[in-house]
Amino acid sequence: MPELPEVETIRRDLKEKIIDKQIEDVIVDISKVIKKPSLEEFIAKTKDKKIKEIARRGKYIIIQLDSGDKLIVHLGMTGLLIYPYNENSEEISEGKIKAKHNHLVFTFTDDTQLVFNDVRRFGKIFLVSNIDGVESIAKLGIEPLEDYFTEEVFIQVLSKKKNSKIKSFLMKQEFITGLGNIYANEVLYRSNIHPLRLISSLNKTEVQNLYQQIKLVLSDAVKLRGSTVADEAYRDTDGEKGKFAKKLKVYARKGEPCIKCGHSIEVIRIKGRSSFICPQCQKL
Ligand SMILES: [Zn+2]
Repeated sequence: MPELPEVETIRRDLKEKIIDKQIEDVIVDISKVIKKPSLEEFIAKTKDKKIKEIARRGKYIIIQLDSGDKLIVHLGMTGLLIYPYNENSEEISEGKIKAKHNHLVFTFTDDTQLVFNDVRRFGKIFLVSNIDGVESIAKLGIEPLEDYFTEEVFIQVLSKKKNSKIKSFLMKQEFITGLGNIYANEVLYRSNIHPLRLISSLNKTEVQNLYQQIKLVLSDAVKLRGSTVADEAYRDTDGEKGKFAKKLKVYARKGEPCIKCGHSIEVIRIKGRSSFICPQCQKL
């Protein structure tokens, strides 16, 4: 599932590639992918519009049109934005991009295409005049890569949820936005913190380490264009894999030795998600 580094990679790609392009034609394959407004209104309000800017909030990509409207894309589990989409896209992505899963196709006036492809169909697309018109965006918390996310701010946010378990807290988008299962696992392992620890039990050094690792892991992952782990779906706008997967130290390494102590990595289930831990380095 794409998290902040993957979504940020797509944002940067699109910013380089589609600014000032004008939408000539809109094809929606499955209308349920468009959550807001109606399909007719969506097509009427995107056709002939130009792309002005590409922003990101949490795991949402925000494409600003010259009309002032914002086209918002949440990739869900397997959503992809491919540009330029063409007959080579399936081959480049090693078969991950199949035309039958293209649910939204924008054709620009220069005849190039931007495609939203989504196998599992958990992706969501909105067109709104104000991003807070999407309820889940209005509730999002702090952007961890922004300068305003300081250690002091982190301590303040943690203090609001002292009785929460740290991993669940990190994955809730209303406090800090952008971390999902992969990066929550990584930052906790690198900080030697067990995912089920209560926030109130963390000492000053642990909080400091965790803060630093959130910044470091996310920014390193952005530099390597996100993580495509094993056969996961994530691809960038060219259909290429993210290269941070080989830098992952704990995620998806069940049974392999801990890099720090040699103990084998174990998996525990927390709220239905796999948590990879070293039981020796991350004690409860
Ligand atoms: Zn270890």
